[in-house]
Amino acid sequence: ITPLVDLFCETCSRPWLIGWWDQFKRMLNRELSHLSEMSRSGNQVSEYISTTFLDKQNEVEIPSPTLREREKPMCHISGVKKLTHSSSLSNSTMPRFGVKTEHEDALARELNDLNKWGLNIFRVAEFSNNRPLSCIMFAIFQERDLLKTFRIPVDTFVTYVMTLEDHYHANVAYHNSLHAADVTQSTHVLLSTPALDAVFTDLEILAALFAAAIHDVDHPGVSNQFLINTNSELALMYNDESVLENHHLAVGFKLLHEDNCDIFQNLSKRQRQSLRKLVIDMVLATDMSKHMSLLADLKTMVETKKVTSSGVLLLDHYTDRIQVLRNMVHCADLSNPTKPLAVYRQWTERIMEEFFRQGDKERERGMEISPMCDKHTASVEKSQVGFIDYIVHPLWETWGDLVHPDAQDILDTLEDNRDWYQSTIPQSPSPPPVGQDKELNACIDKFQFELTLEESSQREQEDEGGKPTPNHVALQECSHGDEEGKKKEEEDTMAEEENEDIIEEEDEVAMEEEVEEELKAPLGGEPEKDRLSDTSPVEDEEDSSSQAEDT
Ligand SMILES: [Zn+2]
Repeated sequence: ITPLVDLFCETCSRPWLIGWWDQFKRMLNRELSHLSEMSRSGNQVSEYISTTFLDKQNEVEIPSPTLREREKPMCHISGVKKLTHSSSLSNSTMPRFGVKTEHEDALARELNDLNKWGLNIFRVAEFSNNRPLSCIMFAIFQERDLLKTFRIPVDTFVTYVMTLEDHYHANVAYHNSLHAADVTQSTHVLLSTPALDAVFTDLEILAALFAAAIHDVDHPGVSNQFLINTNSELALMYNDESVLENHHLAVGFKLLHEDNCDIFQNLSKRQRQSLRKLVIDMVLATDMSKHMSLLADLKTMVETKKVTSSGVLLLDHYTDRIQVLRNMVHCADLSNPTKPLAVYRQWTERIMEEFFRQGDKERERGMEISPMCDKHTASVEKSQVGFIDYIVHPLWETWGDLVHPDAQDILDTLEDNRDWYQSTIPQSPSPPPVGQDKELNACIDKFQFELTLEESSQREQEDEGGKPTPNHVALQECSHGDEEGKKKEEEDTMAEEENEDIIEEEDEVAMEEEVEEELKAPLGGEPEKDRLSDTSPVEDEEDSSSQAEDT
């Protein structure tokens, strides 16, 4: 339990979480602007990160829509196809893993790793007749006994997951059913992390797995920004806000209405309502432009986290539970760099192929090519290093703090993979006299150093013999004490002023409000028996007046 006094900075009396966040944003803006000045590829990496994860979008000239697009009526959810899998399935003919395959033994061997972070989903695809999503969903639901718990008829379940899988585009290089299967299996493993043991209800687990399975369905292989810039039907439908994520949800839920597809048919009305609310929340949180506010919330949670005597996280409010769940699915969605290198490299190849195809479309249409999407200039290795340093590592490090020490192996793999990509950054064919790569490395090393300062502030205090220093003060001192000193500072301030709006100020306000909320709430925590008697927290959140109809 965090003592009240630790929430404030001793020097300036501000809640220090806000100090941390201020510093983090400033560092990120500063580092990204340095990176973009460093070289052309550095600029692309920086642009990609700003436009994808920081909710700051390119202003691009908008070409007029084609006639075809204009004429299409907006009377239904696009992308839902008529398919029937029901006829071929019955309880008696159900294959061992839900899918017909001639490699059932090989598939069984791969699925031995079902509960492990290292499962090779590519081989699952290979041995399941290219039905990785159907197969992994079937295996996970069996493993967790969810078909029995929620009385889901097995043929309905298989019909739904096959139909869902068919609505992922096989010709999209990255956002196809293999990625959905990967995120679902990763979520399944994260749900079982010891620090979250028995924390979530069966309904919340069902919602998280369903959300992961549908979270990219009918993905066209282009970004939200591309859809907005091309005046697409989807952007029109969702008013440019989380266009794809809204569509994935609509399709995922709509498919439940197809023949023999309603896997939630035996849930109570209230369970269905709760599940729908949870799923919508989690899938909308996979919009990468929400990354920074998700990370800020997670960071706040870590700093104020409470654990039971048995070391399990204490999450006694709906808002805390859904916050962990939405970050969990987001972590699973950003987990490629934490997987064994051979697997991670295949994901990288796929995402770059998808980006380059979007870049080709943009070139054809005479549009400005999105960052990292130009096959002629993008630097794959540098982009992965930047992606890890600025996005993936800060996220996973925070997740690691939340579930400490459960994610240690994941973090170790992530750091090894980052170093591997760093070591493969090709030397520039005609290196400029200043040595670009050296500068880039220095820049990245510096950023990493500052990011990890938080943990090492203890050590520094000893070195300097000073009094205990709150984190944000330590960070400030670091940048003040920089070798290049004042001149660099001035540049930084200028860059900051220009980039101040990269991360919305709202985040800060929300953060402040949240910290205030935390302070108002009793910090002593509830007695443990309260948690143990709390069997269905999701439903508790709703009004209790309609409870009767469930029972
Ligand atoms: Zn995804």
